Order: sequence, then C-alpha cells, then structure tokens
Amino acid sequence: MLKIYSSSELTPQLRARLLQRSSSEDREALAIVQAILDEIAAEGLVALKRISERLDGVAPDPFLVTPEEFEEAELALSSEIKQAFQTAYQNIKSFHAFQRKMLEDQKTTVCTSTLGYMYRPVERVAVYVPGGKAFYPSSVLMGVVPARIAGVSHITLLTPPGRDGKIHPAVLYCARLAGANAVLKAGGAHGVAAAYHGLLTPPAELIIGPGNRYVTAAKNLLASTGRVRIDQPAGPSEVIVIADNTARPAFVAADLLSQAEHGEDSPCILLTDSLVLAERVSEEIAKGLDERPERRSMKETSIREHSYAVVFETLDEAIAFSNDYGPEHLEIATEKPERDLEKITAAGSVFLGHYAPVALGDYFSGTNHILPTGGAARMFSGVGVDTFMKRITYQYPTRESLRKALEPIRIMSKVEGLDQEHGHSVEVRFEGEKDRSPSQ
Ligand code: NAD
Repeated sequence: MLKIYSSSELTPQLRARLLQRSSSEDREALAIVQAILDEIAAEGLVALKRISERLDGVAPDPFLVTPEEFEEAELALSSEIKQAFQTAYQNIKSFHAFQRKMLEDQKTTVCTSTLGYMYRPVERVAVYVPGGKAFYPSSVLMGVVPARIAGVSHITLLTPPGRDGKIHPAVLYCARLAGANAVLKAGGAHGVAAAYHGLLTPPAELIIGPGNRYVTAAKNLLASTGRVRIDQPAGPSEVIVIADNTARPAFVAADLLSQAEHGEDSPCILLTDSLVLAERVSEEIAKGLDERPERRSMKETSIREHSYAVVFETLDEAIAFSNDYGPEHLEIATEKPERDLEKITAAGSVFLGHYAPVALGDYFSGTNHILPTGGAARMFSGVGVDTFMKRITYQYPTRESLRKALEPIRIMSKVEGLDQEHGHSVEVRFEGEKDRSPSQ
C-alpha cells in the first residue's frame, strides 16, 4: 500500500525528488485573482456584492455578522460542543500567554549608549478562516487567540458564507469566545480584498490564515504591494513520522491516514530504521482504509501518489532527511523522542512519543495549527503571538557616547559619500560646546 524505499536506493536524484513538493506558481489563480482585486479596488462594496453573488451564490445583507446572529449561534450549539471548544480555547490561550512572556521588552548598554527593543502589536488584523468545503471553528481559535494576546486592537474574521448567507454556528461561537471584533461574511480573494481596503472594517495591516489557491494568490498579490503583511503561504498539509521499533504500527498508520484525510495531495511520510515497522504500517494503512471507508478515494490518492516510507540504517539518517524536508507536522515516535528532538532543525510543529497524534495539536493541546507547509518550515515559523507583533529598537545615548562615535562616523560617512549631512549631524553637536550645558 505504502511505497517503501530503502536508503541504499536513494540516489541524489531520487532523494531530491522525494524531498520536492508540487508547489509551482499558480499562474491561473493569480490571473483570476488579479481581476477580482482590480474590481474591488475600483468599485469597492458594489464589486464585493457582485462577486459574492457570482462566486458564493449570495451577497449577505448585511455583510457583517450581527449581535443577533451571534446569539442564535450560541443557542444552536449543544452545551457539550460549547464545552469542548471552551476547553480547547483555554489551552490555546494558556500556551500563547506563555509565548507572550518570551516577547518582553529588553534593554542593554553598548559603548555607553542605552540600546533596547520593545514589542508592539500590529493594530488591525484580518484572520482568514476557510469555509468553502468544510468549517473550521478550530482555525478561528488558532488565529484569533494569539492576536488577542498580542494586543491587536481590531481583529476581523473573514470567512465565506453558505448559500443561505449564514456562517456555521461553531465558527461564530469561537469568534466571540476568542474575541474577534467583527466577522465579515466574505471569503476567497474578494473577502481578502475587502479586508485589505477596509470596505466594512478597518483596513487590515496583516492578513493571516489558511485558504484555497484563490485566497493564497490574493494574499501573495496584496503582500507584493508592500502595504500589508501576510503569514507564510499555505499549501497542502503534510506529516513526517520518524519511528523506530518501539512504535505501534496501528498508531503510525492512523496518523498517516489522518493527514491523508486533509486532501488528495497531502504527503504522509514514514522515516524509520525498521523495515518490519514500515511493512506493518503499510498493512495497517490498507486495513484502515477498509475499516474507515469515508473519504476513501481522497485518502487513497494521497497515500498512493504523494506518500512513502524510507528505511534508513540509523535514526540519525532519518532525522537528517526530515530536516532537509522541513515538514509542517513532525511526529517522533521513538524510544527517546526528547533526545531526537534536539537534532531537529526544521519543522512546523513536533509531536513527541507514542501518544502524540497531530490531531491533538490540531484541536486541543494549545500549540498552533496554522503552520508552514511545502518546505517553508525551513525558514518560517507557524502562527504565534509574535506573528502579530513588531519589534521596535531604540537608543538613548549620552553626550559622551556620541563623542566616542564622532570620529568613526566622520570616517565611515566619508567612505559612503554622505559626510556632508550625516557627518555634520554628529559634528554640529560638539561645535561651540563650551556654550552648552551638559544635559546628560
Ligand atoms: P476557502 O474559504 O479557502 O475558499 C472558498 C472561497 O473561494 C469562496 O469564497 C469562493 O468564492 C472562492 N472561490 C471558489 N472558487 C473560485 C474561483 N473559481 N474563482 C475565485 N474564487 C473562488 O475554502 P476551501 O476552498 O474549502 O479551501 C480551504 C483550504 O484550506 C483547504 O485546502 C484546506 O485543506 C485548507 N485548510 C488548512 C488549514 C491549516 O491550518 N493549514 C486549516 C483548515 C483548512
């Protein structure tokens, strides 16, 4: 069922092919989306209504969710559902509050100058929550909670409405629970453009959250204007499981299949030092597909076309392969997972031990599930409190520290041909210095 390679077969070409993802530039989506962005830029709300009707079959009136709709949503949900989301919310809040503590303002002294940095939130943020084919209330929590903890002043939640113009009650419940300021019933590129231009909410300075190819294209095109920041581009979700012979094949197979459930292009990869484990996981996958047939063709395509196992001589070789891949999710189901974790240099989020399925982090434990895909984990982090903050540096030099800098700046500014004004701005402070009172 699962294609199994031996590390001895891995020629440089095969290794490169296994590490590669199918993330070529989506020119078709970029062209479609550019036209949508142009329409919204030119005609604003009129264009938003027209495009919503065309693409989503409805132009909600009003586009912003009303207080009554929030009330209705709360009444529509059972206390069991509300309790589950509340507990997850508390966990996500606790972990992100812990993260916030790491972002404390700091200062030091360098060459007698006080130098420091401070963190301040982005003021206006849009959080995209997909809503085309499924509903993702958990993604509401993952986007809004860290923004709120960062201290963002205005959070707009963007999500496409159903054909009845409504938003799923669990999405609205989580939006209110996490503290979104407004929910805009518009998704796709037109929703992103509405948030960017501030058609119904304050214009967004940062747009985050996963979405389909049109959402991704809109975020990329708008980010290229340099007037809005985005999180990392989202591609198909993926997992690597690094496992040794202490791992349970049924657990590993279940975790690979749960990733395959995301979409038919989701890579599900097993890296191991045990051929026996790889073969048993493959059997368990086949068994799982028979026993849990829902979405079978999607899961099967993902396993057959995008997934594989590699059996290495040692776990260290498996870890090196994983570091080159930079997986969105990484499970380490080995005898000493904490020891192996130390060697990880690239991954969106890591799940340690035999009781850490990705689903735990997707929904409940408190870490964020909006993560870099397609190898972006080699240079990007997932969404966290820092996503919503800027770091501002400052300095407060004494007169003495500027005097020490006078001669080097004179020389350096001359080298750059900027001595006339740059050099002068330092020199002027020491002209006629006897007339001045020392201020610091
Ligand atoms: P979506 O909200 O991203 O897209 C729906 C919107 O796309 C609608 O408003 C629709 O009008 C617009 N659209 C559809 N066809 C269009 C077209 N031809 N031209 C222009 N616009 C068009 O929802 P989706 O489509 O279900 O995709 C969601 C994606 O997000 C999935 O790939 C899912 O796997 C992913 N996802 C990722 C995470 C994560 O954390 N990484 C979480 C949840 C979902």
